Amino acid sequence: MSTIQQNLQDVRNRIAAAAQGCARAPEEVTLLAVSKTKPVAAIAEAIAAGQRTFGENYVQEGVDKVQHFAALPEGATLDWHFIGPLQSNKSRLVAEHFAWCHTVDRLRIAQRLSDQRPADMPPLNVLIQINISDEQSKSGIVLAELPALAEAVVALPNVRLRGLMAIPAPQEDYQSQLAVFRQMHDAFLALQQHYPQVDTLSMGMTDDMTAAIAAGSTLVRIGTAIFGARDYSQS
Ligand SMILES: *Cc1c(COP(=O)(O)O)cnc(C)c1O
Repeated sequence: MSTIQQNLQDVRNRIAAAAQGCARAPEEVTLLAVSKTKPVAAIAEAIAAGQRTFGENYVQEGVDKVQHFAALPEGATLDWHFIGPLQSNKSRLVAEHFAWCHTVDRLRIAQRLSDQRPADMPPLNVLIQINISDEQSKSGIVLAELPALAEAVVALPNVRLRGLMAIPAPQEDYQSQLAVFRQMHDAFLALQQHYPQVDTLSMGMTDDMTAAIAAGSTLVRIGTAIFGARDYSQS
């Protein structure tokens, strides 16, 4: 078995154990394999091990990978999520090539994604990014801004609001991680009350996935535990 296959199995086992630990079904948690900076060969290994859902952070790198696999028989079975910061001038590439965007944090970006979504594709699934704890980060809105942005996004024709995403500031201890993720889950439940199509809470990475699942995450974004540490020295 290859390392990536083995790692994927370990991650799936960790998700299952975390879910069972809080009386949730493992199937409630989607595993998004975050393949940023990794070559297509690594993604191909993950596909061979049954993985179908992938996340990319950099628009051009992500589009290159989407197009690479679109030309192959398995391409049609893959689900690509854009999870990086999105500048307006790159929104068209996301609208034309991805199934999901996790990082909507202003109406202008959502409007552009809706306007630029090709007519022959289903609506782009979008998540609103919340800046839940990381005051240093410029990405994401504060929770007080959520009702107004959600209402405006829901009115757009070619995007579909599916939920919320967060990248909390890193915390070592489990209880602190859990406390932040619970604030996100409360906001998610409140949003669901207004918009029944909301079903996705994207939170949890390699170092905090257990707490995220305990707090109600429905999608964990895992890079390092699947593909190994990233090397940014070449870029
Ligand atoms: C890189 C990245 C991840 C994956 O992080 P790991 O710690 O490697 O699992 C998840 N979410 C986002 C938004 C990322 O940029």
